[in-house]
Amino acid sequence: MPPRPRRGVIGRDAAMAASAASSEVPRARGSMAEEDPNQNQPEEEAREERAPRWGPQHAGARELADLYSPGKRLQEWVSVMLCAILVIFNSYHLVINFSVDQAHYILIAIVAGMVTADFLSGLVHWGADTWGSVDMPIFGKAFIRPFREHHIDPTAITRHDLVETNGDNCLATLLPLSHMAYKFHTLSPEAVRETYAWECYVFALAVFVTLTNQIHKWSHTYFGLPRWVTALQAVHIVLPRRHHRVHHVAPHETYFCITTGWLNYPLEFLGFWPRLERLIEAVTGEKPRADDFKWTQKVK
Ligand SMILES: [Zn+2]
Ligand SMILES: [Zn+2]
Repeated sequence: MPPRPRRGVIGRDAAMAASAASSEVPRARGSMAEEDPNQNQPEEEAREERAPRWGPQHAGARELADLYSPGKRLQEWVSVMLCAILVIFNSYHLVINFSVDQAHYILIAIVAGMVTADFLSGLVHWGADTWGSVDMPIFGKAFIRPFREHHIDPTAITRHDLVETNGDNCLATLLPLSHMAYKFHTLSPEAVRETYAWECYVFALAVFVTLTNQIHKWSHTYFGLPRWVTALQAVHIVLPRRHHRVHHVAPHETYFCITTGWLNYPLEFLGFWPRLERLIEAVTGEKPRADDFKWTQKVK
């Protein structure tokens, strides 16, 4: 049985205390130093330990990066292309069916879509961080691997191009976007108008799910972000950088929502993730984060 993951040096509680004091930057040894993306850890710490604890030189990170295959790359390319076509097609139909007297419903639908996307980002992120393993057939290398890589080399995402960053999220939204396109193609304008607010909700949800990893990438990017992105982060419409750093404290057990991050506050207050983990551990006997812990320990 693998040992229980060691708590970060400052730990979750201290991180929460720090966030409660309106500073969401856990700046102790358990946290990474992203302002220096080539270093990834404080200097005195690097001297203390010959094996890197984070970053592209970490043995586990190198092994995980090598598992990125041409087949996986193709899946991402196809997903991005199809998703872009469907978003353009559906946007066109939403615009031509727009009527101003539905404006307030549209606004509510967009905010509800963002909240739902944030929750789903947390659920998927939590599920992949906490359970499963890279050794699982096909699924492990394709979909668990990026999550393991992200904890031991958090700035690798900033070196991923548009396709690698967004490929999997584009894949996730293909089905609902295709269904919507089918409806716009087959239903009469009157029938479309009847469910217009619902379509706006589904579209906002799909777009924010699609954008989630791009938003996540921005939250790790400290140089060269466009002004409009840092403005959106500053007003917390998308995941702010300081906010997301709370998640990157070992053992990565909180603040899983990475679209807007809005739900991290209520879910933390409710103890939502630890409760769910205790329930799953009681039912299955699986230890949370056992595989993630295994990868962080790979120093050779
Ligand atoms: Zn994570
Ligand atoms: Zn991250």
